Order: sequence, then C-alpha cells, then structure tokens
Amino acid sequence: MSHTLVLATRNQGKITEFRRILEELAPGQIDLIGVDQFPQLVDVDETGSTFEENSLLKARYTCEATGLPAIADDSGLCVDVLNGDPGIYSARWAGSHGDDAANIEKLLGQLKDVPDEKRTAHFMCVASLVLPDGRYQVAEGRFEGHILHAPVGQNGFGYDPIFQPVGLSISSAQMSAEEKDAMSHRGKSLRTIAPHVIQMLASLG
Ligand code: IMP
Repeated sequence: MSHTLVLATRNQGKITEFRRILEELAPGQIDLIGVDQFPQLVDVDETGSTFEENSLLKARYTCEATGLPAIADDSGLCVDVLNGDPGIYSARWAGSHGDDAANIEKLLGQLKDVPDEKRTAHFMCVASLVLPDGRYQVAEGRFEGHILHAPVGQNGFGYDPIFQPVGLSISSAQMSAEEKDAMSHRGKSLRTIAPHVIQMLASLG
C-alpha cells in the first residue's frame, strides 16, 4: 500500500532529492508531494529557539493543515568563533530574509580579523516527521568545514560561496548538486530520517 507524505517546502530541489532517497529505500511505497499542492497553507513563523523546534513547528503545522503525515527541515550555518551564530538566524542575518549577498558580507565583516585556524564552522539541518496521531521523529545532519575570506563559486545558495568543506580545497558553491547532497547536512538528515519515515508510515497500515 502506498502512503502520501507532504514535504513542507516549496523548493523543488529538496522534493526531488528526498523523493530519490525514499525511492531507493522503498520503491513505489511513498508518494511525496510539496506544499504547493495546498494553496491554503501559509508560511509558518519560525518562533522556536533551536533548529529542532523550528523544524517541528513547520512539520506540525503542515500535518495539521493537510491531515497528512508531514516532513519539514530547518537548517543554518553555525560558526564556532561566533558561538554558533548565525545559526537559526542564518536566512535573515543581515536583516531582510534571504538576502544571500548581504548575509555573506556581514559574516565576512565579523570574521575579518579571525585567523584561518579559528574559522571552523558547520552547516546543521534537522529534519522532522509528524504523523496525524501525534507521533514524531527528528534526525540531524552536520556538514563540517571552515569559512573562507572571500566568496568563490556559482553553484548552491546561501553561504555556499564562503564555506569550504573539510577534506576539500573548493567551496561548496563549486560542488555539483550530487556531490553536495552526498556530504551535506540536509542529505545526511534526510538519509537518517528516511528509514523511520518508511517504518512509521507502514505502521499506519
Ligand atoms: P532553510 O532551513 O532552508 O530555511 O535555510 C536557512 C538558511 O541557512 C538559508 O537561507 C541559508 O542562508 C542557510 N543555509 C542552509 N543550508 C545551506 C546550504 O546548504 N548552503 C548554504 N546556505 C545554507
């Protein structure tokens, strides 16, 4: 029997990536759809104080509003010398939501005098699954690296041009989408939660 699962995103790239992961683990068992199929849904205010709280807020709202099992993720960049900032504020670090160039400029300014060995950072992602009966599951993924002194590369989004993953000599904006999926915080959290998704949906009968 196949189950419908709503992914709380309008980002087609995230839907395609997660569909591919689920399809490998449980071919034909899960029909993954995005929230664009539900025009009545609004964007949830991310009022939590952790990635987990914000991820669960989005999954719970989507599950309640659609009546279907829902999955959401929340992610950001945590810089060690800034005590984990910008963290949950990553998308709006320079003020307005999603201004990638301004966010990068602000962060590079804050790290202006910080030497290479202290520029360690990681991307963090928490994925959450919520079922209509209230059961839930969360899974996290981390992507370790350090912050460069200037942007490099055209791929990806957000802070990718200034993030160099551990073990590589390129920025994550110079990786292909497939290379990044294989190492990234989002890829890891989705691959970790996927078996739980399959098991919990199967338990619904
Ligand atoms: P969201 O969880 O998709 O809302 O992402 C939050 C913010 O974190 C994004 O707007 C980016 O600024 C940053 N971010 C999260 N994941 C990545 C990534 O893979 N590359 C670059 N920036 C990211």
